[in-house]
Amino acid sequence: MSSLPEASSVLAVCAHPDDESFGLGAALAAFAARGTPTAVLCLTHGTASALGTSRGDLHQIRAAELAAAARELGVGNVELLDYPDGALAQQPTDLLSGHVQQAAARANASLLLVFDEGGVTGHPDHQQATRAARLFARRARLPVLAWAVEHQVAATLNFEFGTSFAGRTTDQIDCSVEADRQRQLSAITCHASQAQDNPVLWRRLELQGNREVFRWLNRPGATRGPGGSGRQAPGTRCAEPGSARYAKTRAQP
Ligand SMILES: [Zn+2]
Repeated sequence: MSSLPEASSVLAVCAHPDDESFGLGAALAAFAARGTPTAVLCLTHGTASALGTSRGDLHQIRAAELAAAARELGVGNVELLDYPDGALAQQPTDLLSGHVQQAAARANASLLLVFDEGGVTGHPDHQQATRAARLFARRARLPVLAWAVEHQVAATLNFEFGTSFAGRTTDQIDCSVEADRQRQLSAITCHASQAQDNPVLWRRLELQGNREVFRWLNRPGATRGPGGSGRQAPGTRCAEPGSARYAKTRAQP
């Protein structure tokens, strides 16, 4: 087990209200518990999902649930945009990346937290949110840490539910962290319209146990932030010191 990397401020970029909790919740709560300021940029209102449609206006419900969940996770600031849920991949990556740039500047972010490149669940919206974050991060030379699931977790879910989870093998994982899920579970509860009647979510959490895994999409080493000002690069304590993986992390810019 290792620990999450050091960061002076973290911006999570995601596609749907609930992604910040169902997916990134344990990490966001861990950063907040450590005193690291966190913010969330969510690109759609998540109204394409049929979950919770009997509860009223999904646009308002999802926004209220996101705000409540963010409070549980200790997230300082939430920005919720209105790009079309289910069609994020059709939006220009450059355009979305501009929103990431603005949010990162507001948050003075030194680290971006995103879903893994495959979208974890395989959702094209997740993949596009990550693409937009990476595009900005490459230009700003900010590190990007991706939340991932292990290959066996993905394979089990896909077998049991016919889902399209994209998991990662051990050699693709940079960081395995013991997760305290208490805050995350409270945040998940805030998303009542989507957390109930969601067997895949609960089974996935069961399979993950107290373990969360991450990959670097852009490795640390950048010294320039969104405003172009000098910024302390975050620590690279995201692999076991002394391991080959750790050496590789340290060696790459
Ligand atoms: Zn999602």
